[in-house]
Amino acid sequence: MKKNDIFTVNITSVGSGGEGVCRVDNMAVFVPFAVAGDEAEIKIVKVNKNYAFGRLEKILTPSPSRVCPKCFSFGKCGGCALQSTDYKTQLEIKRQRVKDALERIGGFKDVDVAECFGSDPFYEYRNKAQYPVADVNGKAETGFYAPRSHRLVKMDDCSLTDSDSKIILNTVIDFLNENGIRAYDEETKKGTVRHVYTRHGDGEIIAVIVSASKILPKKEELVEKLLKAPLKRKLSGIVYNYNPLPNNVILGDTHKILYGKSYIHDTLCGIDFKIDYKSFYQINKKTTENLYTKAIELLAPSPDDTVLDLYCGIGTITLCAAKHCGKVIGVEVVEEAILDARENALSNGISNAEFHVGTAEEVCPALVKNGLTASAVIVDPPRKGCDAVLLNTLIELSPSRIVYVSCDPATLARDAKFLCENGYTLDTAYPFDQFPQTSHVETVILLSRKDVHERIKFDLNIEELNRTSQSK
Ligand code: SAH
Repeated sequence: MKKNDIFTVNITSVGSGGEGVCRVDNMAVFVPFAVAGDEAEIKIVKVNKNYAFGRLEKILTPSPSRVCPKCFSFGKCGGCALQSTDYKTQLEIKRQRVKDALERIGGFKDVDVAECFGSDPFYEYRNKAQYPVADVNGKAETGFYAPRSHRLVKMDDCSLTDSDSKIILNTVIDFLNENGIRAYDEETKKGTVRHVYTRHGDGEIIAVIVSASKILPKKEELVEKLLKAPLKRKLSGIVYNYNPLPNNVILGDTHKILYGKSYIHDTLCGIDFKIDYKSFYQINKKTTENLYTKAIELLAPSPDDTVLDLYCGIGTITLCAAKHCGKVIGVEVVEEAILDARENALSNGISNAEFHVGTAEEVCPALVKNGLTASAVIVDPPRKGCDAVLLNTLIELSPSRIVYVSCDPATLARDAKFLCENGYTLDTAYPFDQFPQTSHVETVILLSRKDVHERIKFDLNIEELNRTSQSK
């Protein structure tokens, strides 16, 4: 097999990035935007030692799971690998992805993985949008970066974001072009606006203009224009964020508030949260509420419990757990998020939650050294999973339950393997679809300490024995 070869293939499975997979000459070929079940003509674009990449040239017989994607830019923008797969099949693909990772990476045999909990809605579900803005022949334009590149694909109708964020985006773009203000150019490093970022709650939205220049000309006019925009929600803040650094990080360290405030309020599981634009907040509210409910159910907290919530963000899971247990301790590396978490505890009248700023791998060992004991732990790390130091500290702390919330099945499987080699047991994994149309999946699992697990099983058996002997 070599580059530019053309083959007729049957797409038989789905890769972890959502690409279709087929076999040619006994080698796996990954074909972006092909759907499992398609018969297709593909062109080989790259050949590696053990696998290759192909381009979908022609669909000869479409898969029964194939649907018409909603976005005009599908296939050009790097965002949604699964948009041409029907939603039911998307959920099955995600369930299988979790199962494969736990079995192949985690070494769990025949692991029980529940059906993937779907999202309603499965379009326009994002409460946060970050649109790149670039200079294209002297005009400010927006779009998305093509897969694995910084080439802007013009587009202003992303189907995952909601109409308010698109109106804000288009208002900013019009303002720049009407006033001859140049967008930032990545090559020359000249110009101003680089990103338009929005975040909304149920009733309000804030707009953040990220710029490489300290000064935005005519900023009062921009504020006036944005306040007149026909939004469904109240525009409660306009922030000018300064980011001169030539890297991939979207937000800079400093900002000026041009109007209102830099945060929103949103209600999650009945608790009101203040969320700064810099703090992490789950992007799909409804699925998050379902996921947190499952996490708390698995945690089974009681008033005797002291619970550690590591990677706690603005304290969302921490405060949801607080009302069920004796004490909760949240740990998070972003200082703004912890300030929000403390304020959120106070404003919701929750007095049994305390928060620490720092990395979980530094704060947790220090707390344990100072005599902390915790009966249960929640971890919700970023994609790279938990740090090895932290995992060893968890073994030392030896809580009876660890609830692991994960946005990457591979690192979840790796960490769960380690914990299960060191005294814990995994029962069922519960996938949740936080990110419909994309290949991402969120998972929650309970790891119970083996002695506790055995005791529960023993108690259940005794109950069962008593029941059957009574019925005889
Ligand atoms: N549980 C929260 C946040 C989960 S996202 C929620 O559901 O909203 C992961 C969080 O971990 C982010 O807030 C991120 O800032 C934080 N984080 C990343 N690395 C960390 C580390 N090493 N120690 C502690 N927090 C970390």
